[in-house]
Amino acid sequence: MKAVVYEGNGKVVLKERPAPVILDDKDAIVQVTLTTICSSDIHIKHGAVPKAVPGTILGHEFVGRVVETGKAVKKVRPGDRVAVNVETFCGECFFCKRGFVNNCTDEHGGWALGCRIDGGQAEYARIPFADNGLTVIPDHVTDEQALFNGDILSTGYWAAKIGEIKPADTVAVIGAGPTGLCTMLCARLYTPGKIIAIDTDEYRLNLAKEKGLADITLVPGRDNIEETVRNMTDGRGADTVFEVAGGQDTFQTAWMIARPNANVVIVAMYEEYQMLPLPDMYGKNLVFKTGGVDGSYCREIMELTACGKLDAGFLITHRCRLGEIMEAYDVFENKRDHVIKYAVKP
Ligand SMILES: [Zn+2]
Ligand SMILES: [Zn+2]
Repeated sequence: MKAVVYEGNGKVVLKERPAPVILDDKDAIVQVTLTTICSSDIHIKHGAVPKAVPGTILGHEFVGRVVETGKAVKKVRPGDRVAVNVETFCGECFFCKRGFVNNCTDEHGGWALGCRIDGGQAEYARIPFADNGLTVIPDHVTDEQALFNGDILSTGYWAAKIGEIKPADTVAVIGAGPTGLCTMLCARLYTPGKIIAIDTDEYRLNLAKEKGLADITLVPGRDNIEETVRNMTDGRGADTVFEVAGGQDTFQTAWMIARPNANVVIVAMYEEYQMLPLPDMYGKNLVFKTGGVDGSYCREIMELTACGKLDAGFLITHRCRLGEIMEAYDVFENKRDHVIKYAVKP
């Protein structure tokens, strides 16, 4: 089968690989019907994900059809359409029992798919702990609507939840890329008073506004971010700040625009160390919560998608076949042609 393989040293190639087989009773084999490229794949390519194993098939955000299940799999059957969770988790360890599935202590626990074990930028994928990692897609939900269920929508949903947004709050989201937009989409579930979206890309900000996700958009360089946020909040600052950009000075912006005692949720995956200037923030009594996602809410998200309350399908701006994915990588990595997300059909 065709598959995208991370070969180490900044190299990602499309090549032939054998189709996966069941290795454990809890495994399922999924025929991938739609897959995508995530910025985490680009981080792997850049060597910024230390756990990534060269030789692994990339892809951790995809949907498909179950073709085979191990003896111990109970919740999914061959023929089921499913969305795949970015995280594989045992469901039984200390962390899984508390919903912290990102820290599952099983050897395949946490973000393993498309990082440490073969993922879904391929025609087929093996899913360990299939009962935990696969979410059945209702018939009336399309592959495109379900594509982001297990990764960026899970991330936005988890971020919004730990952000503890109260009705009428002022929420600031730094970064209007795919995950930033999902964070805004999920923050809306908590009826904030206003969402302020901050990004250097005005096209993405306009999309956030057009889709009703952001009320106010700010561009660093054009607008004085800190002053504007303060002016909008009686001098206080934002009640919850989400840092989803991972840029050079976006961490600093995040804590500076937060009001005292705010939650600052760090969703971004940085490629460099960040400064935490404690003397400068002394007395602000901020609460920092850091990523990565605990993908524990895939079923809830699917239900919200099925009833029309969470539809991230609009993120798909580009479509191609698996055979053309290397060109897609180039467009996506270099943010050409106003790309937000690709939908790639094997
Ligand atoms: Zn991802
Ligand atoms: Zn576990």
